[in-house]
Amino acid sequence: MTQTYDYIIVGGGSAGCVLANRLSEDEDVSVLLLEAGGRDWHPFYRMPAGFAKMTKGIGSWGWHTVPQRHMKNRILRFTQAKVLGGGSTINAQIYTRGNPADYDGWVGCKGWSYREVLAYFKRAEDNQRFVNDYHSYGGPLGVSMPIAPLPICDAYFRAAQEMGIPYNDDVNGARQEGVGFYQLTQRNAQRSSAASAYLAPIRSRKNLAVRAKTMTTRILLENSRAVGVEILENNATTAIRAEREVLIAAGAFGSPKLLMQSGIGPADHLKSVGVAVAHDLPGIGGNLQDHLDLFVIAECAGEHTYDNVAKWRRSAWAGLQYFLFKNGPVASSLFETGGFWYADKTARWPDIQFHLGLGSGIEAGVARMRNPGVTLNSAFLRPLSRGSVRLASADPQAAPLIDPNYWAEPYDRKISIEGLKLARDIMRQKALKPFILAERLPGPEKATDDDLFDYGCRHAKTDHHPVGTCRMGNDELAVVTPDLKLRGIEGLRVCDASVMPRIVSSNTNAAAIMIGEKASDLVRGREPLPAVVFSTNQRVGA
Ligand SMILES: Cc1cc2nc3c(=O)[nH]c(=O)nc-3n(C[C@H](O)[C@H](O)[C@H](O)COP(=O)(O)OP(=O)(O)OC[C@H]3O[C@@H](n4cnc5c(N)ncnc54)[C@H](O)[C@@H]3O)c2cc1C
Repeated sequence: MTQTYDYIIVGGGSAGCVLANRLSEDEDVSVLLLEAGGRDWHPFYRMPAGFAKMTKGIGSWGWHTVPQRHMKNRILRFTQAKVLGGGSTINAQIYTRGNPADYDGWVGCKGWSYREVLAYFKRAEDNQRFVNDYHSYGGPLGVSMPIAPLPICDAYFRAAQEMGIPYNDDVNGARQEGVGFYQLTQRNAQRSSAASAYLAPIRSRKNLAVRAKTMTTRILLENSRAVGVEILENNATTAIRAEREVLIAAGAFGSPKLLMQSGIGPADHLKSVGVAVAHDLPGIGGNLQDHLDLFVIAECAGEHTYDNVAKWRRSAWAGLQYFLFKNGPVASSLFETGGFWYADKTARWPDIQFHLGLGSGIEAGVARMRNPGVTLNSAFLRPLSRGSVRLASADPQAAPLIDPNYWAEPYDRKISIEGLKLARDIMRQKALKPFILAERLPGPEKATDDDLFDYGCRHAKTDHHPVGTCRMGNDELAVVTPDLKLRGIEGLRVCDASVMPRIVSSNTNAAAIMIGEKASDLVRGREPLPAVVFSTNQRVGA
């Protein structure tokens, strides 16, 4: 191994970019960041509305689930990032952190309570609007409000309030429930990805090397210690040595996949695909959780959304407007409003999230209306079902077998359907009447729970929030300890969304970035940031 670094980070995604920045703050250490995807040069990555292209193939692995047994064996598309910045470069830019009770409920994870992780959310953040116990500014990650919301967003807020769902100015603040404008990972009308926020400003650091289009194929072990990685670059295999640690941040599918390719994982499974077992750790690749999305699409009574902008003449003008003035449809991430509410009335904190889509067919596989449409997604936030990610073969190039196991638990199916009904009810309120011509999906004829189940089996899609496959904890099935060290192997940590023991009740990018921030202090052996002490007597969490 002729090349040597102190730290090797595998995966230049949301968490990996944060780690690369924070670790290379120390001039005395050398850091290598390895990313399988390309650099984030394409202009679509910068434009907020570029998101509409992302689930359709740009910057992603092109993976699918295995047939979903509890959804009539449907195979679902599962877009995951393959580009510098990872999910933060291709996502819908919604900045939500979940509920305090999520973190306080991470059993066996000392140091990860809400007040402790809040300090890291704040360290990351450069919030355009809020500075208080929950928010801060001056951090690397731009967090902004939508630039020019459409009138239909206000009508949606009124409709929700007609149903008793309150308006909420800040779903990341003292209360999560309610509808409102989302904070977005944007700065100056451009996406603020982990790559643009954490890597671009430090390009001149001599002690950080970033290698894109470089797939890591194996972690190299010597006597139960990770000593480096094997990479595939330009069709050639090379070994690189890590003097201090190998840090895996390859995402909820990439991290367990790489560990298993390296012989670290459930022994029976590894043997079944012909991988020599180096360390039997049964929890790897299990505990997969995701948010499943069921949506309502209505046709609008006029041009109330951006669907028509997709027509080429209009899109050319919208592009010009964006480049000249940094506003207009291209400055919209298309999912700028949403909210949190209860589908199970006994839930202690919100269990449903809504996303209002300013059009139809925004994401791959979702129907586009002939006339302008509007979409209201509903996602059940705390599924009980647990899935898995496994190797299809020993070949590192092979796609993993992704099994979210959606609706394995009847409760998940029930609450998903209740959430869909709530979304549908919002769309039927008086305040939205002037905007909406008719519901097209599921369609008014789909009236019973069986009808809605059937609709879900055909149309539900992932919210792109896989987590949990290298779960943190202190029990036998845990993969990493609360300081993110892989159990049983020295010099190896996992530092990304895969370590969440239970999925947070919101989108997952903010949490992945927080994990990167906290991981960097753990790796550097620094004192953790002090837990946030609230200045006023605010209600926190459930
Ligand atoms: C289409 C989409 C929309 C989303 N919308 C939102 C949203 O609006 N708001 C939100 O909060 N969250 C959203 N998410 C989820 C959020 O972006 C992710 O939870 C977050 O990015 C996960 O961060 P991570 O660091 O764990 O993994 P990732 O960001 O996925 O990073 C993993 C990186 O590792 C690389 N990698 C994998 N294997 C290897 C290997 N062997 N060698 C080298 N590199 C490797 C991958 O290419 C990838 O770049 C969305 C995700 C997607 C895909």
